[in-house]
Amino acid sequence: MKLSFYGAAQEVTGSKHLLTTANGKKILLDCGLYQGRRKDAERKNAHFGFNPQEIDYVIISHAHIDHTGLIPKLVKEGFNGPIYCTPATLDLNKIMLPDSAHIQESDIKYENKRREKEGKKLLEPLYDAEDAETALSLMKSVPFYQDFQVCDEVSLKFTENGHLLGSAAVNLSIKDNGNLIHVCFTGDIGRQSGSMLNPPQPFPQADYIISESTYGDRLHSDEIYSLAEIIKIITDTCIEKKGKVIIPAFSIGRTQEIIYGLDYLHSKLQLPNIPVYIDSPLSAKGTGIFKNHLELFNSEFQEFLLRDKSPFDFPNLHLIQSVDESKALNENPEPMVIISASGMMEAGRIKHHVANHIENENCTILMVGYCEPSTLGGRIAAGATEVKIFGQVKRVNARVEYIRSFSGHGDYKEMITFLDCQDRDKVKNIFLVHGDIDAQHAFSGHLRTAGFKKVDIPALGSEINLS
Ligand SMILES: [Zn+2]
Repeated sequence: MKLSFYGAAQEVTGSKHLLTTANGKKILLDCGLYQGRRKDAERKNAHFGFNPQEIDYVIISHAHIDHTGLIPKLVKEGFNGPIYCTPATLDLNKIMLPDSAHIQESDIKYENKRREKEGKKLLEPLYDAEDAETALSLMKSVPFYQDFQVCDEVSLKFTENGHLLGSAAVNLSIKDNGNLIHVCFTGDIGRQSGSMLNPPQPFPQADYIISESTYGDRLHSDEIYSLAEIIKIITDTCIEKKGKVIIPAFSIGRTQEIIYGLDYLHSKLQLPNIPVYIDSPLSAKGTGIFKNHLELFNSEFQEFLLRDKSPFDFPNLHLIQSVDESKALNENPEPMVIISASGMMEAGRIKHHVANHIENENCTILMVGYCEPSTLGGRIAAGATEVKIFGQVKRVNARVEYIRSFSGHGDYKEMITFLDCQDRDKVKNIFLVHGDIDAQHAFSGHLRTAGFKKVDIPALGSEINLS
């Protein structure tokens, strides 16, 4: 059996790992979009590095676009087998993939306007809404903890990893020349505490583990501190300086986490009396899906639910739908909190809010999630004094704050706690993916200290024999 790495190898986005069984069956684990600098993204998303028509099955760990966003392109280029994921992931895919197609199409429209003026050849979107719909028609849900026979030689079990609603570690048992090989792809590993989801759960013993490593070199501060810090930032910015707090957040996951946090603060009478706007139509749809899968939430959330029947709503919360309403927020001088997407500020309405407020020293840009270093969010987080937005250079006069503990990713200790269910002597190798190289080297050291004997950091395109 062979394992090949076609994305998120020594970098964070574009998750794609290919297993080829002894009998030649090809199973693709995740099919994510690379998100980063435009030129890199165009190049990396243009070619898979394998033939989509030869793939037999796709298995998805979770609904984030850097894990699913190239599925419609895979289908466009000839893949037509089943795509397996958990029921909540399927529900989220139904809103996220059409949204991704819409972003692809409108980005290219914008780019083509420029190219037309310059007399350059026009570009095609990576995929369109129809490709996304075809991809969705191939998706089949497999509930958590159920043994599912993918084919004669491969069985699958999803276990909870606490990263996003529906997110799973993918556990495979694969027949290989008379042996049974157990492979676990961790997907993205969530927090042990501080999340509203169930924490990462133990998973079956594996021979090989493909593990994420995003925060392989970091320890988070604790969640209570984050909420206290949010109150302080809102008070300083909105009450003292009469400014706006702009929070870039993924529409799905982080936004709901923040709404729940603010709702909790409101229930404790700790939230300043300031309007909070959720400026992302996708967030509203996503919140509906969260409400349909309450079984995946932790015991603390279930208890809170007994006291507050609507944990994603409070009196000062307003959902913004239309573009006109979104634009009106920029003209409204009142203090407010705006939560908008995308999380890395590369696209969507957040880019306009940031462009309009980044030069205002009374405003705060509050980062609450990981941003790939080359993205606008990554550059702002790294302390850039000037950034280019929509072709214009803007000075960063606004206060920039970064709360890392809101992360959907566990730190290195939390990831090792997740891996603690494994018998070290039985794990033959851990392959680190989904992390910057420095984080991966650090995590590799931490894993060895924790007793795991062999840890590799595969390069993009590398192929490894498993037996
Ligand atoms: Zn993720």
